Amino acid sequence: MNRFESILEKQREFFNTKITLSYDFRVKQLQILKNTILKYEKKILDSLYNDLKKSSFEAYVSEVGFTIAEIDFTIKNLKKWMKSSKHKTPLLFAPAKSEIVYEPLGSALIISPWNYPFQLLLTPLIASIAAGNSAILKPSELSPSVSKVLTEIIKESYKDEYISIIEGGVEETTELLKLNFDIIFFTGSTNVGKIVMEAASKNLTPVVLELGGKSPCIISENIDIKQSAKRVAWGKFLNAGQTCVAPDYLLIQKNIKNSFITELKNEIKNFFGDDIEKSPDYPRIITDRHFDRLNSFIDEKTVIFGGKSNKSSRYIMPTILESPDLDSKVMKEEIFGPILPIFEYDKIEDAIKFIKKFDKPLALYLFSKDKNLIDKVLKETTSGGVCINDTISHIATPYLPFGGVGASGMGSYHGKSGFDIFSHKKSVMKRGFFPEPDIKYPPYGDNFNKIKKLMRWFL
Ligand code: NAD
Repeated sequence: MNRFESILEKQREFFNTKITLSYDFRVKQLQILKNTILKYEKKILDSLYNDLKKSSFEAYVSEVGFTIAEIDFTIKNLKKWMKSSKHKTPLLFAPAKSEIVYEPLGSALIISPWNYPFQLLLTPLIASIAAGNSAILKPSELSPSVSKVLTEIIKESYKDEYISIIEGGVEETTELLKLNFDIIFFTGSTNVGKIVMEAASKNLTPVVLELGGKSPCIISENIDIKQSAKRVAWGKFLNAGQTCVAPDYLLIQKNIKNSFITELKNEIKNFFGDDIEKSPDYPRIITDRHFDRLNSFIDEKTVIFGGKSNKSSRYIMPTILESPDLDSKVMKEEIFGPILPIFEYDKIEDAIKFIKKFDKPLALYLFSKDKNLIDKVLKETTSGGVCINDTISHIATPYLPFGGVGASGMGSYHGKSGFDIFSHKKSVMKRGFFPEPDIKYPPYGDNFNKIKKLMRWFL
């Protein structure tokens, strides 16, 4: 017997008591989570500093504050989300009532990565609690300090039979993936996403895959150059580039290329000073293995800014590469670090063609004041999400679903879409015992022409 099976078994028994079905229970659990997070705030910020050298400001905004805002938003809206929605009934079946009822899926498995290790485990959990599920959580082993604090928070907040947390890496995840969950919510790399989906297929478990990819950023000529450069530098070097929706590479219209690069360099210095290694606001790379991988992307011949690193502290300076070879490693994989390749383009059609060489990305960024150009790019490209004239901000709103498409993932969450993805939308039609014509029942006789007409009129 798999060592985690008994936890799932207990969760099923607990779920079958139907206690998670009520609005009051769900809200109470969300409040418990919020209170425990507030109690542990300092420990959480310290753990994020330990694992990634995230400043308290960055850690609060992108992890703790983000999670609390999601809890507050969910509590505020949950009653409305849980209400069944009324729908029309075709005349053919009248009188009847039709509605969609939201019910929990059951037991969820939530697996998370190391880059935003706090919020990427708890934001899906918030949606899972809101939808009335029990859950087993598997944080990343590569951010061990955060994993430890998360374990304390979950153990203090909930009993194992409702929400349980299992620390560990590939071995533990592999065992968990053998179990028959009702939904698996995975955030991580495309390669591991494939492993998760294959494992889930054995039990026909639905999966949500929040993956990554090479998110392009187009800088057209019709922009405020300084403000655009600032917003690109922020989105790219936040968390030292270890952000799933960070701009992976830039495509700059050739007329403004030089002035944009000058501003980009200025903004990086404005953010982190002349000696970036000494900046308290610039994080480090998560492990030696990730450091080596990123360092191997830096080809000195293409470096026009940065390029320096320090293995002992896993520091990699914000680095800009000019036109690296498309066959080089930096353009063959998602970068996921502070290295920014830039390319120039002449016509927007060339930029769109360039983007289409790659898999469908998680995010696409476009800086432009030209409405027609914005419409063209929106129509002719596909990506999980789009942000015009900024980076990353589109994922920080609970009013828009966040998720990928194609190789960047499937399914989305944040706000109502998180509640939806963890719920089964059950279609219910309620009819009475009113008299009805017998036309739909056998023997059909010569009813064929009559039913054709009726279906046209009454459906
Ligand atoms: P990863 O896929 O290596 O690991 C994610 C999780 O899977 C971890 O909990 C890990 O323990 C587990 N895991 C790793 N290898 C496994 C295996 N062979 N079998 C079973 N489980 C395994 O990803 P990562 O390095 O932690 O995170 C980086 C990736 O995540 C990037 O590609 C990034 O774009 C993506 N990401 C996506 C989002 C999003 O919301 N779409 C957010 C953050 C990160």
